[in-house]
Amino acid sequence: MTNTKLEQTPSTPLLPCPFCAGEGRLFVHELAGMPELEPIYQVECEDCGATSPGRDNPFDAEKWWNRKKLVQAVMDRIEEQ
Ligand SMILES: [Zn+2]
Repeated sequence: MTNTKLEQTPSTPLLPCPFCAGEGRLFVHELAGMPELEPIYQVECEDCGATSPGRDNPFDAEKWWNRKKLVQAVMDRIEEQ
């Protein structure tokens, strides 16, 4: 049984990866042979492989990814002080 991973067009521009500033890309994972399961949407960094948690819709995955960048920016600011 193999899972299918397909790239999707994000509904909103994805921010750069908070770890390496690489390009975030939206993927949907479909579980082969288990049609009763919802596909899982996940944003993944092209460069370092960092991922968002899997979500059952693309919007939550995108929202999480774009917010992670914000969290990182706040943490960087704290470290600078
Ligand atoms: Zn990255």
